[in-house]
Amino acid sequence: MTMLKPGATVGILGGGQLARMLALAGARLGLKIHIYSPVANDPAFEVCAARTCADFLDEAALAAFAESVDVVTYEFENVPARTAEVLEAHRPVRPNPKVLALTQDRLVEKQFVKSLGIATAPFADVTSVETLAEAVAQLGRPSILKTRRFGYDGKGQTKIVEGVELADAFKAVGEAPSILEGFVRFAKEVSVVAARGIDGEFRAYDLCENVHENHILATTTAPAAVSAATARAAIDKARAIAEAAEYVGVIAVELFVVADAPGERLVVNEIAPRVHNSGHWTLDGAVTSQFEQHMRAVAGMPLGATRRHGRQVVMRNLIGADADNWAKILREDGACLHLYGKTESRPGRKMGHVTRVVS
Ligand code: AMP
Repeated sequence: MTMLKPGATVGILGGGQLARMLALAGARLGLKIHIYSPVANDPAFEVCAARTCADFLDEAALAAFAESVDVVTYEFENVPARTAEVLEAHRPVRPNPKVLALTQDRLVEKQFVKSLGIATAPFADVTSVETLAEAVAQLGRPSILKTRRFGYDGKGQTKIVEGVELADAFKAVGEAPSILEGFVRFAKEVSVVAARGIDGEFRAYDLCENVHENHILATTTAPAAVSAATARAAIDKARAIAEAAEYVGVIAVELFVVADAPGERLVVNEIAPRVHNSGHWTLDGAVTSQFEQHMRAVAGMPLGATRRHGRQVVMRNLIGADADNWAKILREDGACLHLYGKTESRPGRKMGHVTRVVS
């Protein structure tokens, strides 16, 4: 495909905060954004040029949407396969839908990463209490049982420690097809946020370090406090994953840093085929934000510089009532506030984030 020009339209599936920030970045490049979401009051609908509010399986609405845009992208990995198939018949879908199949299923994803010679947590397929018992015998306790599909922010997973009844654990994940993962005693959690263009160019941001609270990302700090060799190795793994998947767009790879060996060792936890919460710091802390970078990539435009501003950048998520502090944050010199315009605040809901660039 040739490069899209300013004035072209990018269609985005999903209307949450990621789509909202993509739409804002796209607008800055002179692109028009068409949001497709089944949720009428989604935050991205407020900041786009065109809207379709319809089910992801409404094939007539999908076809009309595809005909109205030049390229389609998405803000979440659980796009149904049929949705992608209908859209692809009309317009390019980026990243390519093969990537969806890879990242929607934790078992397929782990097998893919392993096939590239990249370490993951040890894992086993679980389909029943019997196969769970075999898996626990193999991987030991503690271990983590995760549903293969539709898990996020710690949902659809349960820790199997000493004393846990396996039947109860399997019930806790809804008796759904799952994987058991050996417990990784990590020193840190880090992520690579990077982009691959249609010409195969690859550009990564600084490796960043993530702290979770109650299974939800609390803070991201860039750069991560790891050795230069570890940071390079993490980025090389993300590049190998992106190349093998013929990826176009922004990709995030979450990894554990294990410090048991003489140095640091990396274990891939998860791939996100989209812009990622741990890349929000780039909005204020890098030359090109991850959102602009994704729009550039899917539009076939040249990728932007990923260079960090300042010595360190810290992003803190505003979860639930945290966002009530908006006025205090606005008064703080150097704090960059981003609110997602969600009408309803709930505990655990991502309402916004604040970035601080340390010079
Ligand atoms: P996930 O939904 O797979 O991203 O997991 C959510 C969080 O659970 C991770 O960010 C880790 O803090 C923790 N976790 C997940 N898998 C493992 C594992 N195999 N070993 C240790 N901790 C894990």
